[in-house]
Amino acid sequence: MGEAHADIADLAVVYAVTDREKGSFGGLTAFLVEKGTPGFSSGQKFEKMGLRTCAIGELVFEDVYVGPDAVLGGVGAGTTIFSESMVWERICLVACHVGTMERLMEQAIDYARTRRSVGKPISKYQAISHRIADMKVRLEAARVLTYHSAWRLEKGERNVALDASITKLFVSEALVETALETVQVFGGYGFMVEYEVERALRDAVGSTLYSGTSEIQRNIIAKWLGL
Ligand SMILES: Cc1cc2nc3c(=O)[nH]c(=O)nc-3n(C[C@H](O)[C@H](O)[C@H](O)COP(=O)(O)OP(=O)(O)OC[C@H]3O[C@@H](n4cnc5c(N)ncnc54)[C@H](O)[C@@H]3O)c2cc1C
Repeated sequence: MGEAHADIADLAVVYAVTDREKGSFGGLTAFLVEKGTPGFSSGQKFEKMGLRTCAIGELVFEDVYVGPDAVLGGVGAGTTIFSESMVWERICLVACHVGTMERLMEQAIDYARTRRSVGKPISKYQAISHRIADMKVRLEAARVLTYHSAWRLEKGERNVALDASITKLFVSEALVETALETVQVFGGYGFMVEYEVERALRDAVGSTLYSGTSEIQRNIIAKWLGL
């Protein structure tokens, strides 16, 4: 799969196997590889369903040599660095999704209050108002979960990787659901590019893939449960 900002980044964090026998326990090392390093280049740029303002592309490595000063955190520390980065990413990234969910809910409320059908605003139909009530429930649950995990991360609490996976899984799936429901509240206009809620839905789908798919988050949670 591609790397975000592959074609514009000046620096890439690259994980490589440095000791096959040790595997993930000391056999992976993180390297900082700078743009301009011989053999290192960006390849194909990918067209995406959403998040089109964030470019994604391939990084190409052909006989790349880097010196000891490119090693990040010591030889064999790759797994630890990766795991810690993922915890930060999974907790902090979803804060943006909480904001998006709030905006979508506000848009749905505004639209439902103004759009009239059979003599009254569609907000007066329970089928619509309950949809929006569920958006509010998902939003507040996502917010509390995100703040709670961020607080535990800041305090250096134990087992925060579990919180990170729970938070990433819940908030990203809540975002997709909220975006889809917003499209439904907008009716046919929800499908039109002009109203921009279809864009929110396309962008939302990516959130269940990057930083570890929903399936991988469930695997992690199941493992913490001893399954
Ligand atoms: C918008 C976007 C930005 C990205 N940015 C970056 C980036 O900056 N850096 C980077 O390194 N990567 C990035 N990625 C890649 C992303 O992390 C991977 O696409 C993602 O982890 C899934 O890996 P994969 O594509 O190889 O899918 P696969 O691993 O091939 O998975 C295919 C399907 O099988 C399921 N699956 C795979 N293995 C298991 C398993 N063990 N148990 C259960 N189900 C499984 C997956 O959940 C998925 O449904 C980005 C992806 C996207 C969409």
